[in-house]
Amino acid sequence: MSIPHAVTLIPGDGTGPEITEATRRVLEATGVQFRWEVCQAGAVTLEKQGTVLPDEVIESIKRTKVGLKGPITTPMGRGQRSANVTLRKRLDLYANLRPAKTYPGLRSRYENIDLVIVRENTEDLYAGIEFQRGTHEHEALLETIARTTGHQLDQDSALSIKYISAAATRRIVRFAFDYARTHDRRKVTIVHKANIMRMSDGLFLSLAHEVAKEYPDIQHEDRIVDNMCMQLVQKPEQYDVLVLPNLYGDIISDLSAGLIGGLGVAPGANIGSQYAVFEPVHGSAPKYAGQNKVNPMAMMFSGVMMLRHLGEKEAALRLEKAMMQVIGEGKYVTYDLKPRPDDPTAVGTSQVADAVIERLRRL
Ligand code: NAD
Repeated sequence: MSIPHAVTLIPGDGTGPEITEATRRVLEATGVQFRWEVCQAGAVTLEKQGTVLPDEVIESIKRTKVGLKGPITTPMGRGQRSANVTLRKRLDLYANLRPAKTYPGLRSRYENIDLVIVRENTEDLYAGIEFQRGTHEHEALLETIARTTGHQLDQDSALSIKYISAAATRRIVRFAFDYARTHDRRKVTIVHKANIMRMSDGLFLSLAHEVAKEYPDIQHEDRIVDNMCMQLVQKPEQYDVLVLPNLYGDIISDLSAGLIGGLGVAPGANIGSQYAVFEPVHGSAPKYAGQNKVNPMAMMFSGVMMLRHLGEKEAALRLEKAMMQVIGEGKYVTYDLKPRPDDPTAVGTSQVADAVIERLRRL
């Protein structure tokens, strides 16, 4: 018998626990053995331990090297940083990989979409360098800005710093080109707004072109982010791998999820040089918590990515096939994959898992 894979399982909060349970069941039904280290994070631990991300979660992932995570709600304006952002930073999960692919049967305005979004995951406006009005730090920064640039900023303002470093840019762009090379992709598009943010995005753009020269076998081009949005809506088939700074990557990956049938089927992975955490693109959808309603497929597809990462390629293929059959049949799917959201034939989260397991047994 093979040695079980140790994986940190983080159910998260909101609808997280339901989709995590559905995903754990289908992963186990592939026959692959797991040793789950279940770790709580989010609203549950905020109440009991005063933090959305207890140290145990980080310690567990440092042991297992791999995490599978449900979404976690970010409490608004309560002084708590996002658990998701903190996790990515503390484990240096610098690449956020978000494939967007259409499967037959998915209700979308488009066909044959096969995009891969590579989002820088540690810097940019997500670096958490922020200044609240009325604080000493805010005042000191305003003074420095006035002295060094001549800009007199309003005291009644707030500031978030857009931080882009050469080292992080080079490594995310290399990640995108390496991914393209190892996954038989033809082109990488560099996305930026260097015409306006000439320093930060300008650095990203110029270094990205420099790195691209190391990969003569992969085509490359660049697009300004607003134009990129329009191009993706108009002719998404022209694009392949996209590499972007953090904020644009976040926005474009939701846009891309919209191209393929919605957040209910959009998976993701956060990858660093030592650890990897797999999670859906979507959030905790709290209004549906506890209702056995939301689609577990985004998390299941994240599980498929995790199986590939663990070297379980055959199991990954079988799980993907089983899910494709369920999607293609269109019967045992949640409300978001039905023609209308109030379709009475929509099934619940756990029934999707039952249907996938049933197909897996026949493959
Ligand atoms: P969301 O993705 O949770 O939900 C937006 C809408 O998308 C939902 O109302 C629902 O209509 C639909 N949706 C999302 N997931 C779905 C699914 N699996 N099946 C069917 N429909 C689905 O976005 P939000 O409301 O902006 O965020 C809620 C919370 O989640 C916030 O606190 C946010 O910070 C957090 N969040 C967490 C993560 C993460 O854990 N990685 C990612 C994004 C947002």
